[in-house]
Amino acid sequence: MDMHEDIAALKRDLRAVILAHNYTLPEIQDLADFVGDSLELSRKAAACRAPVIVFCGVRFMAETAKILSPDSIVLHPNEFSGCPMADMASPEQIRKYKSAHPDTLLVAYVNTTAECKALVDICCTSGNAEKIISSLPAEREIMFLPDANLGRNIAAKLKRPMSFWPGCCPTHNRIQPEQVAQAKAAHPAALVLAHPECPPAVVALADRSLSTGGMLKFAREAAAREFIICTESGIIHRMQKENPAKIFHTLAPEPLCPNMKKITLQDVWSAMRNLAPRIELPDEVIRLARRPIDKMLAVQD
Ligand code: SF4
Repeated sequence: MDMHEDIAALKRDLRAVILAHNYTLPEIQDLADFVGDSLELSRKAAACRAPVIVFCGVRFMAETAKILSPDSIVLHPNEFSGCPMADMASPEQIRKYKSAHPDTLLVAYVNTTAECKALVDICCTSGNAEKIISSLPAEREIMFLPDANLGRNIAAKLKRPMSFWPGCCPTHNRIQPEQVAQAKAAHPAALVLAHPECPPAVVALADRSLSTGGMLKFAREAAAREFIICTESGIIHRMQKENPAKIFHTLAPEPLCPNMKKITLQDVWSAMRNLAPRIELPDEVIRLARRPIDKMLAVQD
């Protein structure tokens, strides 16, 4: 049997669901039952009540799946696939901040560890951040963590003052306005779509600032045929598959997240065979981390 057949057989035996983030390797996306952004995937997993969830994405995403499906075994096929941005906020730092600013609301991007989520007031994604921030009382101070770029982009759009945690996504933060200008000069008919994790100077050059889910939807629905994609280039695999007649350009140099590329077919096969590495979280962390996620979903839905 080849690796794909082996994985398919294990999937049947385990009644497993395989989830892959939009930035993972093309062969992982092609193997998955669902491809999407982190929250979309975790919600899909919870809805299908699979006893085994194989989460191909970085660790905080697999943790979110565990929080939403605590009774499932959540496999994270490569335990070294972490998110440097999520690691820029630690529970100790958040506790310290809270004791110094007891009246400030803490809004955490889903790109945070489960332990950090357990300490905040509400979560948000790049797709719903505007709606979440707008739902908070105007008189309350807000600390947005851990992505200062996303926070600044949302604050500018909503004209709402906020404090920003000194964190960023290294992959998006490296994108420079000059790269976008070069791509626009090379492809003048293309629309520029930028992820809000990019620096504000990059977002300012974009025709639209959208989450990965928003970009995929826009690419499907827009009359335009050509796009410059300012986010991790792994998403272009799915965009091209869904829109074979349209043209998608990445930037030069290509924005790549090395952590998102760590999970291989071999890792998926091995994790399913050994039922490890799996995500284990203390019950109390699951209980507390679920609250800000549920609050977010109540506003979003
Ligand atoms: S692309 Fe950025 S935010 Fe996403 S996993 Fe990589 S480092 Fe983290």
